[in-house]
Amino acid sequence: MLILTCPYCGVAADETELAAGGEAHLKRFGPGASDDELHGYLFSRENPKGVHLERWRHASGCGKWFHAARCTATLEVFGTYSAQVSGPPQEIRDAISAKRPGWSWREFS
Ligand SMILES: [Zn+2]
Repeated sequence: MLILTCPYCGVAADETELAAGGEAHLKRFGPGASDDELHGYLFSRENPKGVHLERWRHASGCGKWFHAARCTATLEVFGTYSAQVSGPPQEIRDAISAKRPGWSWREFS
């Protein structure tokens, strides 16, 4: 079972208490974006077997959105962090690199 620690209230919640929100760190495009940019934003998603950065909501707890870095193959969690940042914090990146040397995910590594 997937267990994530909410970075806001500190509760270790199992997946039945959480709501998945899809891929984290999507770059949004507004008016004036090209068709390719808008298509990528609407339809292109990472689907790795390995390190993935995701959005989750602590639905049965504080209700806040947060980000999680985890492995989709093993369910190993590298850490959770605020949804108010544009990329994973350095300590999360270091935790991933320690277990998965050479990892990359979109522009992060
Ligand atoms: Zn919470």
